[in-house]
Amino acid sequence: MKEFTYAKAHDMDSALTALRTPGTQLLAGGTELLNWLKEGIETPDHLVDITALPLTAIDTGPSGELRIGALARMSDLAARPEAVRDRPVLAESLLLAASPQLRNMATIGGNLQQRTRCPYFRADIPLPCNKRTPGSGCAALQAGGDTTQHALFGWTQECAATHPSDLAVALAVLDAAVLVSGAGGERRIPATAFHLTPAEAEPQRHTALEPDEMITAVEVPGRPSARLSRFLKLRERAAYEFAVVSAAVTLELTAGDTIGSARIALGGVAHRPWRLTAAEEALRGTALADTDALRAAVAISFADARPLPGNGYKVELAQRAAVRALRDAARRIEPGANGGPR
Ligand SMILES: Cc1cc2nc3c(=O)[nH]c(=O)nc-3n(C[C@H](O)[C@H](O)[C@H](O)COP(=O)(O)OP(=O)(O)OC[C@H]3O[C@@H](n4cnc5c(N)ncnc54)[C@H](O)[C@@H]3O)c2cc1C
Ligand code: SF4
Repeated sequence: MKEFTYAKAHDMDSALTALRTPGTQLLAGGTELLNWLKEGIETPDHLVDITALPLTAIDTGPSGELRIGALARMSDLAARPEAVRDRPVLAESLLLAASPQLRNMATIGGNLQQRTRCPYFRADIPLPCNKRTPGSGCAALQAGGDTTQHALFGWTQECAATHPSDLAVALAVLDAAVLVSGAGGERRIPATAFHLTPAEAEPQRHTALEPDEMITAVEVPGRPSARLSRFLKLRERAAYEFAVVSAAVTLELTAGDTIGSARIALGGVAHRPWRLTAAEEALRGTALADTDALRAAVAISFADARPLPGNGYKVELAQRAAVRALRDAARRIEPGANGGPR
């Protein structure tokens, strides 16, 4: 392992000043970064431990918005009523991720900054991977490459990786924003624009975060419709596994059983949460009992899907996941709430 310096930042200014030195990496819970150091995925010159910064709070603001500090632990947020009761999609995305031990260490900021699980990117011997070594090629897209876990949307000949964060998929339907600070001041990045696909930026660029910036918080608007929400995760085994495909949904109903409006995002199909905006439009006025109409509406958003040799199965899997998540969300209806029967 390459040698690096270690320092602990005790205030935001010193963390942000340290970030201006090239070769600096922030250390939060360490559940990803320590593996990267051992595997040579990251070779920083300087590690700056940010765990003493005052970024652990989870507060509700005057308009009902939930502000989650970047250093809040996944397990802390998953247990809060503002997640479990008011935004079940958020709690479920956290509780279905990793393991209890990891969730007790892992932070919200670190979760969004995790890297793809593409096996070539994570390989312990050097393999062609433009994300890890720019210009080296893409082993997944070469003849005989394994594309079973790869993207349907937003991929290029340079890279077809997906992003593994479950939380990011939930944040995409909650219209959340990622709050960041850097040398240029503070800015808000919509959660749907935080991760970058290879079609939007060179493969080695994972997120919209600049090298001198850090995440300070995530803000989730207060919206009653978030109570009718669901995160559905389909994976190869029932626990401690990344999603093959996931679906996050929020729902507003009219007359109890007809969709007034829906928000849907998929995980496991692109290098960012993939919002099904065309399907959301088509679903307005659709009865939840009408399976054919639900499926047809969701399928509209797959018109531009580009399956690879190994991942065609994801098209139907993702569509079914979206339909099931819509129905599951509707089952959360309370009598008299959200247009439902009293
Ligand atoms: C075995 C295993 C299984 C997992 N399963 C899942 C899963 O099913 N679903 C899922 O969503 N995730 C999963 N994860 C990922 C896990 O959620 C992340 O490892 C964790 O959230 C990272 O947080 P951390 O605080 O430990 O980050 P660290 O490891 O400390 O840092 C990771 C990266 O984030 C950067 N970073 C950290 N905080 C900030 C900040 N505030 N601003 C800017 N950059 C920052 C670091 O510099 C580093 O580059 C799994 C991880 C492991 C190891
Ligand atoms: S898909 Fe992306 S991450 Fe995977 S090998 Fe190709 S370039 Fe690397």
